[in-house]
Amino acid sequence: MDFDLENGWHSPRIVPYAPIQLDPAAMTLHYSQTVFEGLKAYRTEDGRILLFRPEQNLERLNQSNTRISIPPIPEKDVLEYLKQLIATDHDWVPAAEGTSLYIRPFIIATEPNLRVSPANTYKFLIILSPVGSYYPEGIHPVGIHIEEEYTRAVRGGTGTAKTGGNYSASYKAQEKASAHGQSQVLWLDGVEKKYIEEVGSMNVFFKINGEIVTPALNGSILPGITRKSIIEMLHDWGMPVAERRISIDELCQAYKENTLEEAFGTGTAAVISPIGEFAYNGEQMIINERKTGGLSKKLYDTLTGIQTGKLNDPYGWTIEVK
Ligand code: PMP
Repeated sequence: MDFDLENGWHSPRIVPYAPIQLDPAAMTLHYSQTVFEGLKAYRTEDGRILLFRPEQNLERLNQSNTRISIPPIPEKDVLEYLKQLIATDHDWVPAAEGTSLYIRPFIIATEPNLRVSPANTYKFLIILSPVGSYYPEGIHPVGIHIEEEYTRAVRGGTGTAKTGGNYSASYKAQEKASAHGQSQVLWLDGVEKKYIEEVGSMNVFFKINGEIVTPALNGSILPGITRKSIIEMLHDWGMPVAERRISIDELCQAYKENTLEEAFGTGTAAVISPIGEFAYNGEQMIINERKTGGLSKKLYDTLTGIQTGKLNDPYGWTIEVK
């Protein structure tokens, strides 16, 4: 689908996967005027194809558009196009346990111009790719590096948008995490480096002394759709989640007092990723003896059960495409 000032968003079409042509001066290449989303389609045991809360992704895409000064997409129409696309390519949705079809909608500014201001022409593309199981050897806890030097996002910046620049801001810290043998980065707030924000591609939850806590959406955290679903599910189970500020000192204190019972990340890729270890300031905090906690496991099983149609979907989160 394309955008220009005269026609607005127009010409939705399904074409075979192939390279696209861009002018070397296309504004997206220089100033990162781009936004994206990530969601999945699942094949059920009886052969149906389900999408998980796709309207949430399109709503968030438009929130990102607003922040990056990209014209809003017509959400209802795009949802229909998306359903048609997945129904057309339904053979690409894999069937094996844990697999899915990853869907990557994204928008790029195509106008050739070296000025720094919003473009007048855009392209909206959706690419599809079958993906294997995130846990081929079963769900297992990951190690997380807590980043003290670099910042991903600041309040008033682009942290709440899903835009390229946020991810390039994270490479340096990701390199540090890898060098220390940890798989992802936990970001602290960009002002005081004191409050916990989120993990590289996940939101984060803690169970401390029986209380389930996640950082409140404060204007620099990505509002994850898995995060939102987990909060709704836990509420339904009579286990309310405290959405509040949580400082790194509170986390370290809980660890010392042995009240840090569980920690896990939430996101489209891993669904639930138990955290077995935090590395902070040269110290290691081992959580739950590096084992998957009961809460993480129950959330993982329930959410993947709903997504793949194995469990009844009491929330109406899945949409049948075929
Ligand atoms: N935070 C960041 C920075 C992310 O890239 C993602 C992945 N989209 C998430 C959180 C989790 O969001 P969601 O649950 O919508 O995948």
